[in-house]
Amino acid sequence: MGDCLFCQIDKGEIPAEKVYDGEEVYAIKDVNPQAPTHLLLIPKKHLSSLMDMEVTDERLFGAILNVGKHLAKKMNLESSGFRIVLNTGSGAGQSVFHVHFHLLAGRPMKWPPG
Ligand code: AMP
Ligand code: ZN
Repeated sequence: MGDCLFCQIDKGEIPAEKVYDGEEVYAIKDVNPQAPTHLLLIPKKHLSSLMDMEVTDERLFGAILNVGKHLAKKMNLESSGFRIVLNTGSGAGQSVFHVHFHLLAGRPMKWPPG
């Protein structure tokens, strides 16, 4: 998608701090962090939101979470804990309509989330 922020970041057309770049998934630091660690886990395939997911994307979504797990392990977050969040729809806080997971850590996490 030509005008999509996360497609443009993937292609290097807009700069971002990439912390992982794989075949199907990449991860960047969130520009407006909500926790000491705040990464975005992003599939290279453009899907506007979780609602665009098809059965054929099941493996891709597993791959995204696996990248999150490996990054969390690399950052030693296993014992302190971390949260992975997927906002779907503007009412739930989604502002970029290219599906992505937030990986948040480094501060106490409240439940239920706000
Ligand atoms: P959401 O609100 O769930 O759609 O998440 C979108 C996230 O993208 C927000 O946390 C923003 O801070 C983040 N964001 C927006 N623009 C950029 C950018 N250029 N580089 C990195 N993160 C961004
Ligand atoms: Zn996109």
